[in-house]
Amino acid sequence: MTVCEQARALFTAQFGTDPEGCWCAPGRVNLIGEHVDYAGGLCLPIALPQVTAVAVRRRTDNRLCLRSSGFDPVDLDLADRRADGWAAYVAGVVWSLDPPGFTGADIAVASDVPVGAGLSSSAALETSVALALAELCGLPTDTAGRDRLAAACVRAENDYAGAPTGGLDQRTALHARPGHALLLDFADGGAEHIPFDATTQGLTVLVVDTGTGHRLVDGQYGQRRREVEEATRLLGVTTLRDAPSPDPLADPVLHRRARHVTTEIARVQDAARLLRDGHLRELGPLLDASHRSLRDDFEVSCLELDTAVDAAVAAGALGARMVGGGFGGSAIALCETQRVADIERAVTAAAARRDLPAPTFLRATASGGARRC
Ligand code: ADP
Ligand code: MG
Repeated sequence: MTVCEQARALFTAQFGTDPEGCWCAPGRVNLIGEHVDYAGGLCLPIALPQVTAVAVRRRTDNRLCLRSSGFDPVDLDLADRRADGWAAYVAGVVWSLDPPGFTGADIAVASDVPVGAGLSSSAALETSVALALAELCGLPTDTAGRDRLAAACVRAENDYAGAPTGGLDQRTALHARPGHALLLDFADGGAEHIPFDATTQGLTVLVVDTGTGHRLVDGQYGQRRREVEEATRLLGVTTLRDAPSPDPLADPVLHRRARHVTTEIARVQDAARLLRDGHLRELGPLLDASHRSLRDDFEVSCLELDTAVDAAVAAGALGARMVGGGFGGSAIALCETQRVADIERAVTAAAARRDLPAPTFLRATASGGARRC
């Protein structure tokens, strides 16, 4: 059964009728450009083949009835404007989007995006809900419309779920195209679709889920954002994108944080150039440099991520780095496809040697954005 079929089946089992429709949106992995979205930077994600699907039927009594296998059922009143746990990611989108004429819905969710692994199951959920509401309520879903949906999903995650994420996840889930990476510009809102076909070049983007749930809401992510804001203020620029160098910063911590942001943005520009020229193999050293910068300057890596990255590179990956917010979650390794099995074995063995959870693997092929299914 596909994920969309699972959502429909859950809907029928839970609500005793058919949904009006089913929509899905992908998880994502960011090739490079980490912790720069909220600094006016550039990111270069691809959407994953894994999706979250929502089956939806509208109600007329201002209630939201939400079901997702493995999560507690939630029934709530639209007037409450408050939801806890996973319901905040769904109801938050309703409240921040405020679609015209919307008076409640039954929603069933199914997903094969790993949850809490830094692959953005949260945005996959938000954006599939947002697209469903937009199509049901007649909001535009062209490029500009999807930009507005992404913004509403960011507000949902920030204001209702309490996670201060910066927009990378939601924009990727809504705008990605199959066979393309997405160069996202967070200074001017621009997006460029760059062909990204690792498979035909004999390459695989291997995603390593360390099995250590990332701890995004625990304050570290917010603290990094505040440090970046402080560095931006002290350097007298609008965003760190405009800062020629972090050198004038006397505070050594803020200096390192700003150095990560400015060097990471430069690495994204280099990576985009390589992709445009079809030189995927040469991404490797940029991934390695990105990881070192996130580990040493931004200090958002952890033992599990460093272990996975080091083992992948030692086993022959062309490059590897942590992805997502950090402090757990996932890493990627750019691998010759024929070496993937060896690299997986090496990463698993390295985790076992340190008594860390057994990692799981998936292969990321650049997939499409939110759609009806
Ligand atoms: P990530 O986005 O990296 O997977 P987050 O902590 O940002 O991790 O989001 C995970 C949260 O999103 C879950 O704890 C849950 O509240 C919600 N969520 C994600 N996927 C689903 C789903 N299929 N069903 C219900 N809630 C989900
Ligand atoms: Mg998330």
